[in-house]
Amino acid sequence: MAADAIVLGAGIVGVSTAVQLARRGKSVVLVDRGEPGRETSYGNAGLIQREGVVPYGFPQQFGTILRYALNNRIDAHFHWRAIPSVSSFLAKYWWHSNLSRHQLIARAYAPLIEHSIATHNELIEEAGAQDLIVKNGWTEAFRTPSKRDGEFREAERLSREYGVAFKRLSANELAAQEPHLSRDFVGGLKWEDPWSVKSPLALTQAYVRLFEKLGGRVLKGDARSLSKTTTGWRVVAGDGTVEAKDVVVALGPWSDTVTKPLGYSFLVGVKRGYHMHYGAKGNATLNGWTMDAERGYFLAPMAQGIRLTTGAEFARRDAPKTPIQLERAEAVAKTIFPLGERLDKEPWMGARPCTPDMMPVIGKAPRHEGLWFAFGHAHHGLTLGPVTGQVIAEAIMGEKTLIDISAYRPERFNA
Ligand SMILES: Cc1cc2nc3c(=O)[nH]c(=O)nc-3n(C[C@H](O)[C@H](O)[C@H](O)COP(=O)(O)OP(=O)(O)OC[C@H]3O[C@@H](n4cnc5c(N)ncnc54)[C@H](O)[C@@H]3O)c2cc1C
Repeated sequence: MAADAIVLGAGIVGVSTAVQLARRGKSVVLVDRGEPGRETSYGNAGLIQREGVVPYGFPQQFGTILRYALNNRIDAHFHWRAIPSVSSFLAKYWWHSNLSRHQLIARAYAPLIEHSIATHNELIEEAGAQDLIVKNGWTEAFRTPSKRDGEFREAERLSREYGVAFKRLSANELAAQEPHLSRDFVGGLKWEDPWSVKSPLALTQAYVRLFEKLGGRVLKGDARSLSKTTTGWRVVAGDGTVEAKDVVVALGPWSDTVTKPLGYSFLVGVKRGYHMHYGAKGNATLNGWTMDAERGYFLAPMAQGIRLTTGAEFARRDAPKTPIQLERAEAVAKTIFPLGERLDKEPWMGARPCTPDMMPVIGKAPRHEGLWFAFGHAHHGLTLGPVTGQVIAEAIMGEKTLIDISAYRPERFNA
């Protein structure tokens, strides 16, 4: 089978890239070993984080690092056994998170985030997926005045520098917004621009249907079968092979399984995260996406139930699940909201694909014609899928890209 382009990986990033190429008239084959949208893109918190212009950094203060080292928190957890293998990633991550470097990174990262809503909106409308979207921001709930006031100050800065919209909520305003939330909170911060998705899986599937409507084909195959031909690339998929001039690697946390054999070594680590769905007791309802800011977990009113999602677990990508953070978060969440029974048989786990400088890898491979990279979206893959797809598609077409993508180029890692 021949095509113009092959996209490897049918998570939100790969699916969006395939759609953006198909919208521009390219014939595209999307290859995944499983069903589209069933891995990392399945279980996230469902936020299109327009406010997320500053990527999540590594703590800098010694005291904070020491508190994390106790390994008893909800927002972060690590496997001692994994430390030797993740230490160079963590050291570089810590280095890039230094205040001045972090601010420069945010400047380079913000243009991607700024286009997140508009680029999703185009696909949502074309896919007819409006019923999956809630356009009502999300809220951080605070337990202490010091945390609340510090976050208000940071929100003012982000509003001044990046134009994100927010609203301060008093304790009473928060209670009016979420009547079933405990009155332990002293107030809240509502980020007003973000949208949320009631089912990230259903959104990815809607984009897949749009892709197929535009003539795209989805095939099962193993991306590791990728090989070079005289004119482009070949992959074993479906009942045979697919050949194309261009190939995009969008394999999320598994991208190294294809880039390494081709001679590229990115220092991509993972931050694993968990979720569980719950019912609500009695007539309790959760109206909006809410974060218990001091504890570091989310409650999201999804189509499948109230989804509790956890922060970062530093572990080997393929190590068995250790849902300790989920258990800790569940115990706390039950004290702030009348959560009902668990609705899933077991906790879901996904692995956020992370680069040490907190920005994704988007662009042309330095040493191979027709090879493109689109991975490493960390905490913001759902947010950034469509804009990533758009700029990669434009670059492949030889067009001017929506934004300057040089900050995300693969060469920055000397890979
Ligand atoms: C708990 C949690 C909460 C999150 N919340 C948010 C949020 O609110 N907002 C947000 O923007 N982001 C969020 N994220 C991050 C987001 O989910 C990820 O950044 C995003 O899903 C990454 O998408 P992807 O397409 O790069 O990877 P994936 O979705 O993992 O897709 C990669 C695909 O590659 C395929 N693949 C792998 N190996 C092979 C192979 N050998 N051959 C063929 N196919 C292969 C897989 O089957 C998979 O379908 C969250 C993540 C977690 C874990």
